[in-house]
Parts: sequence; structure tokens; C-alpha cells
Amino acid sequence: MRIGFIGLGHMGRHMATNILRANHELMINDLDESAGYDLVMRGSTWAQSVAELARESDYVVTMLPGPQQVRQVADGPDGIIANLASGSIWIDMSTSSPEVGRQLGRQSAAAGIGQLDAPVSGMAKGAEAGNLQIFVGGEHLVFDRARPLLETMGDPERIFHVGPLGAGHTVKLLLNLLWFVHAAAAAEVFVMGLRAGINLETLQRSLVASPANSHFIETDMESIFQGDYDESFAMALVCKDLGLAVDMGRDLNVPVEVSALVEQIHRRARLAYGDNGGEMLAVKLLEDLTGTYLRHSEDHGQPASRSPQPL
Ligand code: NAD
Repeated sequence: MRIGFIGLGHMGRHMATNILRANHELMINDLDESAGYDLVMRGSTWAQSVAELARESDYVVTMLPGPQQVRQVADGPDGIIANLASGSIWIDMSTSSPEVGRQLGRQSAAAGIGQLDAPVSGMAKGAEAGNLQIFVGGEHLVFDRARPLLETMGDPERIFHVGPLGAGHTVKLLLNLLWFVHAAAAAEVFVMGLRAGINLETLQRSLVASPANSHFIETDMESIFQGDYDESFAMALVCKDLGLAVDMGRDLNVPVEVSALVEQIHRRARLAYGDNGGEMLAVKLLEDLTGTYLRHSEDHGQPASRSPQPL
């Protein structure tokens, strides 16, 4: 298959590498040409423009920061939709807005292009390992045709068709919202536990064995214990996702009080540590505020590095 891939950041560069490993013909593009260097060395072709990439591809995959960039590359005379041949498929794997996906979907349908939203979960390490979880929205027939391509990037057992166009983005935004709620809540619980004199591992083991367990406590907390807040997913993107999720609550007329508060906590962390700070820095916000650092027993209470006080 001739695949075009746009967006070679933390996630996209690994996903594109896995497409290439599956022996597909790959053309790539990114605003930053240096992002494609390794892939060109491995045999893919650099496209000078989105229009060129779309003209030369049967399938186009986008892995961009959010709805604004997706619209930029898909819309208009130089965009994907105007340049992809009828009968081809565009898969947007970015975490983006369901509404923007549906608006562009109407243009794709008019041009005879199959469109899917297929955002992913599994972090950069899942992208590298090729075992991402993928949530697909769009027509079943288009999904069936695209499945072999999705399987080069994701775990075949965890590629779910979740509904019509836009449904993939919706499920992904809900998933992220819940995960960041867990992160903010776990920070409070563990900081309190440590200050109350409970050993961190003992607290973690007790919670994991209890009905209050979560993936965050069981797995992600381990990174915090090492002082690693996961820089492969930037705070600017976290806040984009939480903003889209809270907007969705407003559009659906659902009061989302907890979600709105959690969004504000993450916006505060973004201001304190910067756009490129790691996705779990909301935990550090509370660590810095209380001077209580969630580290393995040997370095209890000692910050791994000095950091600015949160705003
Ligand atoms: P990133 O910022 O590392 O990469 C985005 C890439 O897109 C960059 O290389 C940038 O130069 C390029 N780009 C931006 N605008 C462009 C344009 N108009 N034309 C061409 N290229 C353009 O982002 P990422 O971490 O790889 O995330 C990509 C998407 O995946 C986001 O929607 C994010 O929310 C989602 N996501 C990220 C993770 C993660 O752990 N990083 C996990 C799941 C989902």
C-alpha cells in the first residue's frame, strides 16, 4: 500500500516507523523537516507538501497536535481532501475534536474519500512497540479496509470500532479526562499518606488490592516514584485534551464540575512547569506545594531536583 504520514512527533515518528517495517511504501511530511530524517534514512520519501503527499498516497494518516492543525492540513485547495484520489482513505489518529472531524467528514464524503478518526492510547512507548490501543469512528466498510494498516501500529486485540465518525475522538477524550482525574486524585491520596507516615509501597500495595485501584495507581505511579513525569506527552497537549473534554460536557449540557476543576489544576501545572513539561506534572504541583516528594523509601521527602514553586 502507498501510505502518506503527516506529523512525526513523539508518537508519529514511531507509528510511521512501524508502517515502514511492515513493508509499505511510505511518504512523510512534517512542519519540521528534521523530524523526518531517520525515516528517510530507512527508506521513506519526504514530501515537499501535503498536496504532493496526498496525490501519491492511497491512505493518509495524520498524527498532529490537535483540531487546529488537523484542519490546516485537511482543508483547502492544498489540503488532504482536495488532493487525495476518490476511493482513498484518510485516517486522523490525532486526539482531536469530534465536531471538526465530522465537518471535514462531510467534505471527504463529497469527494468520495473514506475518513476515519482513530486516536490512540498507550504513550510513546506503545507507539514504539506497535501495541497502541486504537478507538475508531467511521463507516464499518472503511474500517475493514483500514484495519491491516491500523494493525501495523496497534494491538489487534485492542483496535475497537466505537461508532460513526467522531466517536473515536469522543471515546479518547473521555478516556484521557478520566485518567487525568485519577492522576490529580492519586496525587492527593499519596501525598496525604506519606505525610501521615505510611510507607509509599505499603500504601500502593493496599490500594492496588482494594476496590479503589486504578491503572494510574498500579502502573503510572511507578514513574512518579522514580521522579519521571513522562515528558513524551507535553503539558500543552494535556491541556488541549482537557479543554476539548470540558467543552464537550458544555455542548452536551452535562455539568462537569470535577472535570473542570481537574482541567484548572493541569493548566496551573502547565504555567508552573511550561508547555513541554511532562503529562504527570499535576502530581509535582502538590509535591512542591507540600514539600512532600513521592519517591521510593530510601529518598523519602527529598526532591529529585530543585524546581520552581508552583504559581
Ligand atoms: P508532538 O507535538 O510531539 O508532534 C506533533 C508533530 O506534528 C510535530 O512534529 C509537529 O512539527 C507536527 N506538526 C504540527 N503542525 C503541523 C502541520 N500543520 N503540518 C505538518 N506537521 C505538523 O505530539 P505527539 O505527542 O506526537 O502527539 C500527537 C497527537 O497524539 C496529539 O493529538 C496527542 O494529544 C496525541 N497523543 C499523544 C500521546 C503521547 O504520549 N505523546 C499519547 C496518545 C495520544
